[in-house]
Amino acid sequence: MRRAGSINEESFWEAVEASKKSCYFCPESLERLTPMFPKDLVPEGRMRLNSARLFPNLYPFAEHHAVAIFTETPHFLELGDFTPSLLEDCFALAIDYLRLVASKQYPRLIYGSINWNYGLPAGASMLHPHLQIIADAVPTKQVSVLMKMSEEYYERVGSNYWLDLIEVERELGERFVAEKDGIAWLASFAPQGNREFMAIVRGRSSITDMDKGCLKALSEGLLAILKFYQAQGVKSFNLASFSGPALEGSRSFLLSFKILSRPLPQPFYVSDAGFMERLQGETIVDTKPEDLAKELKAFFQ
Ligand SMILES: [Zn+2]
Repeated sequence: MRRAGSINEESFWEAVEASKKSCYFCPESLERLTPMFPKDLVPEGRMRLNSARLFPNLYPFAEHHAVAIFTETPHFLELGDFTPSLLEDCFALAIDYLRLVASKQYPRLIYGSINWNYGLPAGASMLHPHLQIIADAVPTKQVSVLMKMSEEYYERVGSNYWLDLIEVERELGERFVAEKDGIAWLASFAPQGNREFMAIVRGRSSITDMDKGCLKALSEGLLAILKFYQAQGVKSFNLASFSGPALEGSRSFLLSFKILSRPLPQPFYVSDAGFMERLQGETIVDTKPEDLAKELKAFFQ
């Protein structure tokens, strides 16, 4: 198993401790410093589900942009600290928010997504673990391409690309990791980054279609990947969902997620994005998807 490398643990924990002082999401600051929703959207101003809290992003980059924290305390969670209920609650709260926005905007379509920058090298400005939830009248470029190509595939082949992908990968067995409770987990055939895995959700084209059972399955799978990442020494990652519009079905498109690891948080780190990634539209990875799938399987037992 190829590890991500190592960091100076002492200076890492010093940085975590120092970041506490300027954290908006810790209990002493959250109520005072985070913005509130308009009363006609969320009468209480912020949303809550068990220990998860959700509120507007101070610096939105979509028409609707919220932040959801897994828990107010502790300030920092290592990958091994996440539990099924922490993940389930935070994702459930994010989906509640997307449903709320979609119901207020319908019939104007809402494209929602749940995203996660974990760690500074992944683009997180706050170390306190949090999801970012965006909803807009237009899909992101990636979702737009995926939806267009899925429909073209359906027109040409007469079947759903995502279901076909699951079956082809299962048959080949090289990148297929597991399928549990309606979610298939694969190492990406053409990854956009290191240690990239994808989850395809059967029978659902929008993230707002995810029910309790579906969320439980997603959380369990993600937890297995977080444990795998931890075993590999990973301390930073990105996750994104790719969803069709809320409250509309699709014959050709299925909801999916991708997660990939990012460099270690350390001074003078080497970025994983060079000229190939930033300018040439190509991705260089350090492990073959087929090897990754083999290694992740043990975490899905
Ligand atoms: Zn904090």
